[in-house]
Amino acid sequence: TEALLRVQDKLAAVGKMAAGIAHEIRNPLTSMKGYAEFLQLDEESEERREYLDIILDEVDRVNSIVEDFLVLAKPKIVQLKERNIVPVIQNVVSLLEFEARKKSVCIHFHRDQEIIQVECDEDRLKQVFLNFIKNGIEAMPNGGDIFIKTLVDSNQVQISIQDTGVGLSKDQLAKIGEPFFTTKKNGNGLGLMVSFKIIENHHGKVDIESELNKGTTFRIVLPNKAV
Ligand code: ADP
Ligand code: MG
Repeated sequence: TEALLRVQDKLAAVGKMAAGIAHEIRNPLTSMKGYAEFLQLDEESEERREYLDIILDEVDRVNSIVEDFLVLAKPKIVQLKERNIVPVIQNVVSLLEFEARKKSVCIHFHRDQEIIQVECDEDRLKQVFLNFIKNGIEAMPNGGDIFIKTLVDSNQVQISIQDTGVGLSKDQLAKIGEPFFTTKKNGNGLGLMVSFKIIENHHGKVDIESELNKGTTFRIVLPNKAV
């Protein structure tokens, strides 16, 4: 029956997610164990410092995976307050500008107003902009442009983030936002899933337009809080 099918779908999704989490956490654990065992055997090792650094990096990695999942587990923790998002976006742009320049990427931020009030959790929203802009940079291995634009009207605020990168195929587009879907060597495929969840917690939505080898646009729509 239909009800049975839906339960099975859910179990399949949970199973896939659990397998993904287990895999993502077991890798750094295995590496930490290996390095710790080595240090235990050889206390005078010259590589001591290097191995301790690796262990600490791996601890950070596990921690960030767990933190990403906490966003899913505790959505109600999001504290919405009225804030101007222009400096929030500007802040993220400044944060990424150096990395962008190294990759011949130019970030352009065009806002239609200097004050755009949105009911939001500033830190969470910052994480969303960071994830989207970072993905844009990573989608342009040969450089390019990122255009961030705002569009405010009486009941909503649109923020679009457009890149001139590799784009997404139909298959990739269908998978986007699934946990652990990544096409990157060092990706974890959690950034978009977490971002979509945060936007949902802000009563907003996202749509994506993409063309292979032309680029991708993410359009975030949030409720407007202007008086
Ligand atoms: P990660 O960046 O760790 O791979 P994300 O959840 O941020 O994880 O993104 C998942 C995947 O979606 C990426 O690996 C990439 O294939 C695709 N993607 C996301 N943003 C873009 C973009 N701007 N252009 C092309 N592909 C993208
Ligand atoms: Mg990412």
